[in-house]
Amino acid sequence: MEYKSYSLHNFREIPQMRYLNEEQKFNIEVVGTVLPFKTNNYVLDELIDWDNFETDPSFILNFPQKEMLDKSSYKIIASLLERNASKKEVQDAVRKIRLGLNPNPAGQESNVPVFEGQKLNGIQHKYREIMLFFPTQGQTCHAYCTFCFRWPQFALNEFKFAMKEADTLVKYLKAHPEITDVLFTGGDPAIMKTRFFEAYFEALANADLPNLKNIRIGTKSLAYWPYRFTIDPDADDLLRLFRKMKRKGFNIALMAHFNHPGELKTGAVKEAVGRLISAGVQIRSQSPLLRHINANADIWAENWREQVKLGIIPYYMFIARDTGPRDYFAVTLNQAWHIFRNAYNQVSGICRTVKGPSMSCHPGKIQVVGVTEVKGQKVFVLNFLQGRNPSWVGKPFFAKYNTDAVWIDDLEPAFGETKFFFDENYYVMQA
Ligand SMILES: *Cc1c(COP(=O)(O)O)cnc(C)c1O
Ligand code: SF4
Repeated sequence: MEYKSYSLHNFREIPQMRYLNEEQKFNIEVVGTVLPFKTNNYVLDELIDWDNFETDPSFILNFPQKEMLDKSSYKIIASLLERNASKKEVQDAVRKIRLGLNPNPAGQESNVPVFEGQKLNGIQHKYREIMLFFPTQGQTCHAYCTFCFRWPQFALNEFKFAMKEADTLVKYLKAHPEITDVLFTGGDPAIMKTRFFEAYFEALANADLPNLKNIRIGTKSLAYWPYRFTIDPDADDLLRLFRKMKRKGFNIALMAHFNHPGELKTGAVKEAVGRLISAGVQIRSQSPLLRHINANADIWAENWREQVKLGIIPYYMFIARDTGPRDYFAVTLNQAWHIFRNAYNQVSGICRTVKGPSMSCHPGKIQVVGVTEVKGQKVFVLNFLQGRNPSWVGKPFFAKYNTDAVWIDDLEPAFGETKFFFDENYYVMQA
C-alpha cells in the first residue's frame, strides 16, 4: 500500500472532499493554518465513514474543526485568508494565537535533564524508573491528531525535543542505573525506518545496561498506518529486529494509542496486531478522554473489550491536556470519573488492567479515584500513579468537589487545608 499524505497545501485533492461544501473546506483551511493538519489514505479510505463524516470520530480526530479555535482567532485568520494577506502577516497572526494555546503544558521543559554541563534536548526524565527518548527521525506522525499536546513539535521549532546521538542516550543510562525503561516517543517513532530502530536498539543491547529491562515504543501507527507492521518495505525487518531484542532479553512493549473502537476494526490493524504479538511484542493501549470522540462509557467498554480480544492490554485513560484546542475536547474531572467507572463496571476483570482517569500534570500522573463524602463534605479522592517524587505514589489525598474542574489547577485542598500534601516538597524541588 502506497502511503499518500495530505496536509493544508493539498487537502483539496483528497477524493472524498466532494462530500464537503465550500464553507466546510474553508473552515479546514482557517483552523489548519493554526493547528497542524495531516492525514493519509488509510485514514481516509478505511477509517472515516464519509456518509456521516461530520460526527465521525476519525474525521474530527484528523480534520481541523471550526470550533477548535475561539471565535476571535477564527475571525482574524479567516479575514486574512479572505483578503489574500501576505504570508508574513498570516504567520505573525498564527504565531500569536499559537503562543496563547499553552504550547508547553505540564512544564515538559523542566523534565529535560542537564548532563555533563549539557542540556539533553532529546531526553525527558521525570519518573525515576523511566526515561523518554525522542529520536530525531521520529518527530512526525503518519497523521496528526487535532487534540495533540505535542503539536508545537510540528509547528514551533523552538519547542522541538529531539536528539541524534545514541551515544548520549547510552551515557545517560549508564549514569542512571535506576532506569529500567526507555520509552521511544515523538511524534511517532514508528515513522522511523527500521535501520534507525536498529541503530538505537543495537546501541542499547551492546551497552551492558543490566538494569534496562523494557524498551517501549509510544505509537499511533497501529491506528493510522498499520501497514508499518505488515506490508511496508521494511516491516518484516522491524519484526525480525523485535524478535532479536527479545532473544537478547529485552521486553519490547508497544504503547499503542487507540482513541475509539473504529480504529480496531480493519483487517490491516488486526493483521498488524497479530504479527506483533507473534513476534513477542506486548501491546498496551492508552488514550485521552475526548469530547466529540469518545466521551461515553460504552465506547470505552467496547474499546477495551475489542482490544483484549485481539491480545492488547488496556493501560491508561488520560484526561486531555491543557493545550491546543482543549476547550473543544474538554471533559470535566467529574464526568471523566463517571465515564471511567461506568465503562470499568461493564467489562470483565481482564479488561481492568486499565488505570485512570489520569492527569499528566507537573507534579505527576494524578488519578481521579472518585467522588465521595467525608464528614459531610463532598470531595474528590485523588492518587498519584506516578510522581516527580516517587514517595508520593499510592497515597490518596482529597480535593474539594468542583463540578467545573477540568484540570488539577482548578482544584483546591479539602477540609480547610491550604496545601496538598506534596505542595511543599514540590516547591522545594522546583527551586
Ligand atoms: C506517562 C509518562 C511516562 C510513563 O509512565 P508509566 O506510568 O510508566 O507508563 C514517563 N515519562 C513521562 C514524562 C510521562 O508523562
Ligand atoms: S500520533 Fe501522537 S504525537 Fe502524533 S499527533 Fe497524534 S497524539 Fe500527537
